[in-house]
Amino acid sequence: MDEQKIQSNLNKLLIVFLAICLLIGGVAQYLFRSVSDLYIESVQGRLEERAHQYKNSFLFKTNSDLQTLRAMACMLEDTIAESASAKAAGERLAYLWDASRTAGFVRLCYFNLSGKGMQLSSQGEVIELQTEDEAAEMQSIIEQALQGESLTSQAFYDSNLGYNTISYATPVYTGKQISGALVCSVSTESYADILSSISFVSDVGAVAVLSSSGDILASTRTHQDQGFYQLDESDYLDEELSHKFMQALSADETQFFEFDFNGIPAYACIMPLDICSDKIVIVDTDKGVSDAVSGVVSYAHLTGILFAVTAILFVLAVLYINRRHNLQLRQVAYHDRLTGAYNRYKFFQLLDQRRKKSTEYAVAVINIRKFKYINELFGSDRSNQLLKDTCAVLKQYMEQGEFFCRDTADTFALCLNTSDRDTIRKRLEVIFTALKACGKSVHHAYPVSYYGGCATTEDCADKNNNEELMSHVMLALNYAKQSQQSTISFYDTKIHEKEMLQNYIENRMEWALEHGEFQMFLQPQMDLRQKRLSGAEALVRWITDGKQMIFPDQFIPIFEQNGFCIQLDYYMVEQACKQIRAWMDAGLSPVPISVNQTKLLLYEEDYVERICAITQRYKVPSRYITLEILESLALENPERVSARIDQLHSYGFRISMDDFGSGYSSLTALSQLPIDELKLDRSFLIQADQSTEHNRRKILEIVIEVAQRLHISTVAEGIETEDHAHLMWELHCDYGQGYYYSRPIPAAEFTDTFLQNNGAC
Ligand code: C2E
Ligand code: MG
Ligand code: MG
Repeated sequence: MDEQKIQSNLNKLLIVFLAICLLIGGVAQYLFRSVSDLYIESVQGRLEERAHQYKNSFLFKTNSDLQTLRAMACMLEDTIAESASAKAAGERLAYLWDASRTAGFVRLCYFNLSGKGMQLSSQGEVIELQTEDEAAEMQSIIEQALQGESLTSQAFYDSNLGYNTISYATPVYTGKQISGALVCSVSTESYADILSSISFVSDVGAVAVLSSSGDILASTRTHQDQGFYQLDESDYLDEELSHKFMQALSADETQFFEFDFNGIPAYACIMPLDICSDKIVIVDTDKGVSDAVSGVVSYAHLTGILFAVTAILFVLAVLYINRRHNLQLRQVAYHDRLTGAYNRYKFFQLLDQRRKKSTEYAVAVINIRKFKYINELFGSDRSNQLLKDTCAVLKQYMEQGEFFCRDTADTFALCLNTSDRDTIRKRLEVIFTALKACGKSVHHAYPVSYYGGCATTEDCADKNNNEELMSHVMLALNYAKQSQQSTISFYDTKIHEKEMLQNYIENRMEWALEHGEFQMFLQPQMDLRQKRLSGAEALVRWITDGKQMIFPDQFIPIFEQNGFCIQLDYYMVEQACKQIRAWMDAGLSPVPISVNQTKLLLYEEDYVERICAITQRYKVPSRYITLEILESLALENPERVSARIDQLHSYGFRISMDDFGSGYSSLTALSQLPIDELKLDRSFLIQADQSTEHNRRKILEIVIEVAQRLHISTVAEGIETEDHAHLMWELHCDYGQGYYYSRPIPAAEFTDTFLQNNGAC
């Protein structure tokens, strides 16, 4: 799973987690609301129940007062209406007055059908009254009592008494006819008595009786607290709620209100008294009514908030930890530990992103020349420092949108914004100069140098294929590594073709050997003194089924590396023997054939046996086979090589040292190895100015003289002109080989040209 996928899964997980939190939060809210509703319902129920208690008390009091009044009216029946004088009627009333005072009446009046009435003063005198002088509330109940009803007035201000009262009225009969109405009044103080007779559970609740116009008739509160019920002008009720309250006071049904009282939730129940239009208003605040329930609600509320905050903090913590973790992971996954630069993986990721932006860019890979040597010589600390310095310099030279990585060891890959080779070359040269300057200042001991390969998207058949681009870069880098002249190589098709050929060679070599595609060409060797054919060198040619000729320079180094040269050289020895056998069978006198032997052969355990087996198979005397070994081999392991040569000598083979003078030749090595022939490299004959030619001639003279003293015959390679031949003859070189006599030619052609008339040259 890549990082993006992990991240997206994590995001999904967080979203799910958040969704669950929101869901839980929602459910908590819903539960909270439900609990709140339940709570309010319970408060409502409780207030209503309490209001009913008060109401029942009022009804009880009213009924008992009316009952008392009715009883008094019965006692007046037939008598008061028939009283001859006002004095007699007054006496009748006085008789009841004492009893009524005991019942708590503050006024007792009698009115007849014509609207005249009487009452007793506190001194017991009869005071005459007129119905129309009474308050409207009083007039109303008198009128209804005269119609036969017993009823209660709403509270009103009695100007005769100077305070608020409630009045009752009941008809008085004479026979079966209503002859008048008996009326009594009680102070509204009796309301307060009823209110205080029932204890209110909550210390923050209150109950009051209000008239339909909002006047407070009685309350459980002190005068200061009555502001609580000043509904029409309160500052804790907004206009709308105040209006609703006033409407509820004149309505006939119980109503419930919820409001805010100085920051505390409060609830009110307004219930009609039914006996009159006055209302019981009962108010309770959240705080006192049920601390326990409101505590639970608040707790639930708080828990919900805490839960939400914890969830948010948790998500934030997870995001933070995840971010840090990601940063650390990214550091490890995308960066090189030593230098802190991007690593190969990140480089390829960025390269892919770069490709999506535009396909015009280049990749250059640079290496430190002989880094392995630096490492061994100066130790890992200094080498690590060099790598870090290289990174620091590269960082400075990256332009906007460019990036680089340290791939492995001393390999750095750079992505550059341009695909123009000149620009790239100049940029790399500047970078190399800076790198060298940095290397010089820090690593004085060794002049650090760099080389680099580069390819652009233009070089790719598919501009979107970064893998193709990278393989081109690596080819170019390899080329730069081998090249001693240039430090910067660009990918080109020649390099590519070389690479293709190399692939072809490696894939086809075995098949080619089995199918005879390797052919033996022969190049004549001439006796310089007698000027006649003395031998031939076998040189391999690969002729493909497409008739294309591949030369040894192209495949021998590859075969040397992969070991296939061993098989090929046995094969060439066999071809040489086959040819000699053919000459012998054809009655021609054979010449020795020199066969090139890879140094790998000399390390083969059964080498000598196998060579002998081949010569024996073709019944070819071993003196006809000369084995050419390279000068470098002699220097590698003289004892072992010497022992091998002795072994080969014992079977009659001749040994020749090839390319003498091409490398670090040593005359001492000559004396150490028991060779039979020395082949002087053609570099001795290459034209040069007079002075060096003179020196070379001297060297040749000495080498040939040493060889002669050691009884080693000499062959001059690369005789291209008559002068060459003459020079070598003058220097007493024995044999000559070169284009002057013939290029390497197919064996059959050699037979025709050189062997049929042996001696002509
Ligand atoms: P070498 O053994 O030194 O062979 C001589 C090379 O010089 C041959 O190149 C030959 O064609 C070339 N040559 C001969 N005369 C002249 C001349 O006058 N002027 C110039 N410029 N060149 C001349 P060739 O055939 O391309 O072989 C190259 C090398 O490949 C050989 O160098 C030898 O080291 C190796 N080689 C060839 N065939 C075999 C083989 O069968 N086995 C092994 N192990 N190596 C082989
Ligand atoms: Mg040779
Ligand atoms: Mg040679």
